Amino acid sequence: MDDVFQRNINYLRISVTDRCNLRCVYCMPEEGVNLIEHKEILSHEEIIKVIKSAVMVGIRKIRFTGGEPLLRKGITSLIAGVNEIPEIDDIALTTNGILLPKMVLELKEAGLKRINISLDTLVPEKFYRITRGGSLAKVWLGIESALDAGFEPVKINTVVIRGFNDDEVYDFAELAAKMPLNVRFIELMPIGVSDLMDWTGFVATAELLERLLARYNLVPEKVAGNGPAKSYRIPDAPGTIGFISPISNHFCALCNRLRLTSEGQLRPCLQSPLEIDLKTPLRSGATPEELAEVIRFAINSKPEKHNMEQTGWKGNRRIMTQIGG
Ligand code: SAM
Ligand code: SF4
Repeated sequence: MDDVFQRNINYLRISVTDRCNLRCVYCMPEEGVNLIEHKEILSHEEIIKVIKSAVMVGIRKIRFTGGEPLLRKGITSLIAGVNEIPEIDDIALTTNGILLPKMVLELKEAGLKRINISLDTLVPEKFYRITRGGSLAKVWLGIESALDAGFEPVKINTVVIRGFNDDEVYDFAELAAKMPLNVRFIELMPIGVSDLMDWTGFVATAELLERLLARYNLVPEKVAGNGPAKSYRIPDAPGTIGFISPISNHFCALCNRLRLTSEGQLRPCLQSPLEIDLKTPLRSGATPEELAEVIRFAINSKPEKHNMEQTGWKGNRRIMTQIGG
């Protein structure tokens, strides 16, 4: 359905867990995260109910995220359940890739169509540092397993942070030059409560593009399902290079999404703290139509745009793993 700003909202991002096996410094604090109790998290049956009501208001695409969605027990059967809902034509996953090698085939069989893997550096020691203990080799196996399983293309999400990985943009571009990977550079967003981040880490897309254009002839390209990313291809390269610029180039006018947190709150905008409680009606016997009405209300509550530029990292806001990145 269209929201009050005439945007067609057809995409629901669902956080299936707030837990993660990594601790990326821009996403989660090292410790002291209050994990949500199991009983507060929506069950598979509840998630399927929500999706069935969401299709009544025009949702056609689902993405599972978190936290780390592959940590959610039974994620494969959840995906298989969503795959049986005829109106849903796209099921995607955003993952850190660590658990992919052992799960990728069953995920594909269950009906998963697309995978985005987050990878911020190609240097093992830096990966260890940014994720507070993660293994780049494991993620790399995850990327290879996704390619081997026939996911095409596999998208790589790279948050660019000044002084950390802004010296690796050419190395990431080379990945897209050699492999069928859609590398997407993402601007760092002031979401969450990390003490380690501030605006000094921010790198605007324009700066990256200028540096890449100095070396490559980038041809603009439309990439299916690439949402707000602006994409380019180095001529004849198997992969593409994209830019997601939530700060320097507000794409809010094109926003087509709604988020569902793992505890059943609808979140009309990633940045705005507004949440609409879906869990209470869900657990008190609301009919599918009544749930659809709550979802409709959430869609109509979407703000015209975010104002992240004016906000900082501090403050008592939810962290990314709680919202569902
Ligand atoms: N654990 C999975 C993963 O890392 O792909 C899924 C959840 S994670 C929160 C989803 C995406 O959000 C990742 O690509 C991550 O890099 C991105 N992200 C988290 N915090 C961010 C921030 N402050 N700014 C920009 N992107 C962020
Ligand atoms: Fe975990 Fe993903 Fe956040 Fe990293 S970005 S801490 S992998 S949820």
